[in-house]
Amino acid sequence: MNLPCSVVGDLLPLYAEHMTAPETSALIRSHLSACPQCQKQLASIQSAPPAAAAPTAPLGKLRREIRRRRRLAALLAASLICTVLVTLFSWFTTPIYLPYTQDLLTIAQTGETLSVTLNQSVAGYRLTDLTGPDGQTLLVLEAWRTRWPFGIRQNVQFFLPAERAAPGLYYCDNTQSGQLTWLWGRQFSGGGNILPRLSLGYYGIIAGGLALILGLCGLLLRKRRKLLLRLALAPAAYLAGHILVMGLSFSAVDPARTLVLIVLAAAGVYGTVYAGCQLLAIRKKDISPPAEA
Ligand SMILES: [Zn+2]
Repeated sequence: MNLPCSVVGDLLPLYAEHMTAPETSALIRSHLSACPQCQKQLASIQSAPPAAAAPTAPLGKLRREIRRRRRLAALLAASLICTVLVTLFSWFTTPIYLPYTQDLLTIAQTGETLSVTLNQSVAGYRLTDLTGPDGQTLLVLEAWRTRWPFGIRQNVQFFLPAERAAPGLYYCDNTQSGQLTWLWGRQFSGGGNILPRLSLGYYGIIAGGLALILGLCGLLLRKRRKLLLRLALAPAAYLAGHILVMGLSFSAVDPARTLVLIVLAAAGVYGTVYAGCQLLAIRKKDISPPAEA
């Protein structure tokens, strides 16, 4: 039985994959032995890349795309949570310095030891050495409350050798004027004050300037827009972190702690904006069909 070329042509793809019944294969083989045209067709089928390879490429791309989306969504969620947690932590634990009042603290001397008891509104205190106007070392006390509403309030108390406080123990209220109030020991004439520490203000100003310059360049230069805007996002995020942690204040009494919080908040803002923009761009691409020539 001789098969026509058209029938053999239809069967050749199956034959090439060894999917034809033995009887069919035998018939095809006998046709092929006498038909160079069908031999050529078989050769071209066998030399073609396996058909299965074609659909895996777009599938792989789709899988990568889905994985990328999942990563971006996870980054977005983690960044948002980080931003909110750092902001809340900072809000509740940032020291709010207390002005000096009569009932803020009591000092009692027992032998060679001074005991200082702070009132119940005080959450923490710090003692710093400060060089006074005559070159002597003054001891400066600062005390603060926090917004944290929980926990048992008890009087904070500390002890120090009277000798250490003898050159002068002062209270600094850490308000704008940073005024010093005499508490114990020697009292020097004329008021002293500590200037608020402004170092974080400079970082904020530098970050704001950088964000502005890079952002403007990004908007004006079409070529490197993506890169410039991405770069501008870093100082902008720092500035946002600063506002989240410190509000509009630039003077931090404890710059190291504040800087860590600002950087953490800034990382959260950066991640949120970055992942948010990427996800928005993907969604936009999905909605508008790709323009095809
Ligand atoms: Zn043939």
